[in-house]
Amino acid sequence: MIPAKFDYVRPSSVNDAVRALAEGGEDAKVIAGGQSLLPLLWLRLAYPELLVDLGSIDGLRGVRDEGGTLLIGALTTHDDVMRDPVIAEHCGLIAQAAAQVADPAVRHRATICGALAHADPAADLPAVAVALDATMIAHGPGGERAIAASDFFDDYLTTALAADEILTGVRVPKLGPGWGYRYEKFHRTAQAWAIVGVAALARRANGHVAEARIGMANMGSVPVRARAAEAAAAGAEASRDALRSAAQQADEGTNPPADLHGAADYRRHLARVLTARALAVASGA
Ligand SMILES: Cc1cc2nc3c(=O)[nH]c(=O)nc-3n(C[C@H](O)[C@H](O)[C@H](O)COP(=O)(O)OP(=O)(O)OC[C@H]3O[C@@H](n4cnc5c(N)ncnc54)[C@H](O)[C@@H]3O)c2cc1C
Repeated sequence: MIPAKFDYVRPSSVNDAVRALAEGGEDAKVIAGGQSLLPLLWLRLAYPELLVDLGSIDGLRGVRDEGGTLLIGALTTHDDVMRDPVIAEHCGLIAQAAAQVADPAVRHRATICGALAHADPAADLPAVAVALDATMIAHGPGGERAIAASDFFDDYLTTALAADEILTGVRVPKLGPGWGYRYEKFHRTAQAWAIVGVAALARRANGHVAEARIGMANMGSVPVRARAAEAAAAGAEASRDALRSAAQQADEGTNPPADLHGAADYRRHLARVLTARALAVASGA
């Protein structure tokens, strides 16, 4: 439980952090809340030679209202978004999902961007990010670039971020009138990781679902969209029966893992059940 030796820097600007990361090369790692990285160091599953701590870059903390979108800075924790009035007003799905992550001690340290950069397919916020069509903001030696959530998650614990890039924030759209949302998480015990998680958004108009977006956790090596169920829900009556029928397609095209917590078929079943529940609440059925 003693990590291998490493150097540590705590820059006060994004440019200095990017420079330190670039100089450290493949052996350098960003650290934010440390909730995923520190256990890996203790277990010696990771042994970076340099840690670049973002903790002193004040500009990366908090949620900024940009008009049609919200920018969640890299140091914003799960606890921060749970209490943020702008998130509550415009994108409550993020707060609802964050409240189901781990326990208060973890949520006070764990950042939203850290969860996205770590890219554990069982994590809750990556599924929310794909449902929201979020945009990741990355900074590297060449400047800033935006990466759509659909292009960000490459594989298990792997993203499109280059080794010398920092995720400085995630941009999410404000949910306009008519949109509802729900995060449904099935886990063995309160505060445990999701066996399957479903983030649903639905826009209701004239008693029907005009548009639906569904992101799922732990249904593959990356967070996935339930595209077939979204298409089936669009135009459907906002009733529990109609949405249960649409949700039957939630597992289409997925490749869920099998482990001690559940077989792949069990996860497929959970995806259908949780999607039906989440769509019903999101659409007010
Ligand atoms: C006991 C426990 C229970 C948990 N339960 C859940 C759960 O139920 N659901 C869930 O979704 N998650 C759960 N988690 C995971 C937790 O949400 C993540 O550990 C946390 O969000 C990661 O953020 P962090 O700031 O701590 O990242 P760190 O641990 O600091 O970093 C994680 C990884 O991301 C990289 N990274 C971090 N920030 C950036 C950045 N800005 N730019 C580039 N790379 C970056 C790091 O280099 C590292 O590879 C749990 C964790 C613990 C310890």
